[in-house]
Amino acid sequence: MSSSDQLKYCFHGQHSRPLAEFKTLPGTKQKRQVCALCYQKIMTDRKKHRVLAK
Ligand SMILES: [Zn+2]
Repeated sequence: MSSSDQLKYCFHGQHSRPLAEFKTLPGTKQKRQVCALCYQKIMTDRKKHRVLAK
């Protein structure tokens, strides 16, 4: 097994994704890492909330 195939648990999607796909979410006190798919969803959701807050 190569290390690039290593899976990491994504707390947001509650699924395991390849470690290489993970990104760290900005703007949180705790360093939270989610997979690229969830990262996109979260960032899109944050933009929506920011628009609604205005
Ligand atoms: Zn995910």
